[in-house]
Amino acid sequence: MHPKKTLAQLHDTPEDGTFVVYATFNGFVDGEDCWYPACKCHRSVAPDSEAYYCKGCVKNVFQMVPRYRVKINVSDATSVAVFVMFAGDVQNILNLSCSSLVSASKVCSCLLWLLLCIFPYRLLQLPVYYFSVF
Ligand SMILES: [Zn+2]
Repeated sequence: MHPKKTLAQLHDTPEDGTFVVYATFNGFVDGEDCWYPACKCHRSVAPDSEAYYCKGCVKNVFQMVPRYRVKINVSDATSVAVFVMFAGDVQNILNLSCSSLVSASKVCSCLLWLLLCIFPYRLLQLPVYYFSVF
């Protein structure tokens, strides 16, 4: 089992690792997209003329894959924090691939918000959720 920490203890922890934190989900971080365009190496890519540029691969790539990156505000009695949830974790909660979500939201942008509204309820159904600290 991973060690338990409060958010204040987590802020003061110098080591990397996985910890158990009991915190309240307070919503999404304002103004942040829930996904990013990624290279097959999982790094984010930037549009570059007819392609994308990947700093990880140091070259232009022609295929972009949308990947989840959801930032959420959490709090406990000791502090507040922003947790970042990535691809597989968000996909498990929403039970929907990021590509499907992005395709659907092109048809109707309200679908994106509808799914993100479902997210907190799906999160609550999980008895324990693990975030890794880097
Ligand atoms: Zn790459």
